Amino acid sequence: MSLADSLKAHIRTQGPISLADYMATCLLHPTDGYYSRGDAFGADGDFITAPEISQIFGEVIGATLAQHYDSIGAPDRVALVELGPGRGTLMADIVRTIGHYPEMAAATEVHFVEASPALRSEQKKRVPNAQWHDDLATLPPLPTLLVANEFFDALPIHAYDYVAHEQGSRWAERCIGLQAERLAYAHTAPGPQFAALQNDLPPAPALGACIELSPQSLTAMMTLSTHIAAFGGAAIIIDYGYDTPTYTPTFQAVKNHEEVDPLAEPGQADLTALVDFARLAATAREAGLNPAPVTGQGPFLMERGAGQRAQALVSAGADGSEVLAALKRLTAADQMGTLFKVLEIVHKKVRPS
Ligand code: SAH
Repeated sequence: MSLADSLKAHIRTQGPISLADYMATCLLHPTDGYYSRGDAFGADGDFITAPEISQIFGEVIGATLAQHYDSIGAPDRVALVELGPGRGTLMADIVRTIGHYPEMAAATEVHFVEASPALRSEQKKRVPNAQWHDDLATLPPLPTLLVANEFFDALPIHAYDYVAHEQGSRWAERCIGLQAERLAYAHTAPGPQFAALQNDLPPAPALGACIELSPQSLTAMMTLSTHIAAFGGAAIIIDYGYDTPTYTPTFQAVKNHEEVDPLAEPGQADLTALVDFARLAATAREAGLNPAPVTGQGPFLMERGAGQRAQALVSAGADGSEVLAALKRLTAADQMGTLFKVLEIVHKKVRPS
């Protein structure tokens, strides 16, 4: 049975499902889920991510993590953790860069949090010595340098729309139901996750206002923050997202580099939503960390030496116009420089005296 047919059968007997359940099934169903296929990334896939555009991205992050390693006191052992490593390209670039810092290289062990078996085998090709985890709960009790690029946008969201109703307008949860045997959006009373939003609702919402919430993102953020608060370390989280919600829906599906209808072909398109950076930062603060102000990917990469890395690649024989085009794509305000944001946290564990 196709994923569409099994979703329909489920909805027919049990009623509409939340957007979060729909996303989780479409992305991670063990055989028919989008990431379970493992061939999504790169120029030939459905979308291209920063590390697949240029090694400049991973080299700048590697050099930044090397600085963080020093600033947390150059521990004897450190866990280098990546969430959702895709093809493993970013970590391969980071590990190669860290090779220039022998003390750190000797202290480092690589840990991947990855749900897709197909992508795990891609990652193993590029980073053979990594250790894999199903989720963040099993990270080793070590100082931790963590990176996540385009991981949080893939975590399931709930969406709430402000809709007209007989007794006046109200918030309703956007679900997936059936209309004439096709998957279609439906509204139900908000589920229990809605309670977490009570303090953030716009004071006078316009009809059509939409709020998205990713409880799974907040749980992951809390777990990693608590870990870094306990053992010391740093985190660099990069994704497309916003600092303040605009109350417009951002849930989308991408296939072959084009936006498509998220309900048309379950499991065949990447499903994402913009990341709520303010909420991720607030979660880190709740865990006792002190995140730096959220910044754009463009300024972040340029301030950490992306221009010099590009220059070095050209000096080593790379094609100048290709390197420049990649640098521009990663950093220009009208490309990935502003929409993509960076949340950076450095936390030196204070040893009890
Ligand atoms: N960081 C990579 C890939 C981003 S795509 C890059 O920049 O190219 C999202 C990645 O997160 C994939 O590896 C996907 O399999 C993984 N992923 C998605 N949801 C996950 C979950 N709930 N738990 C663990 N990994 C997940």
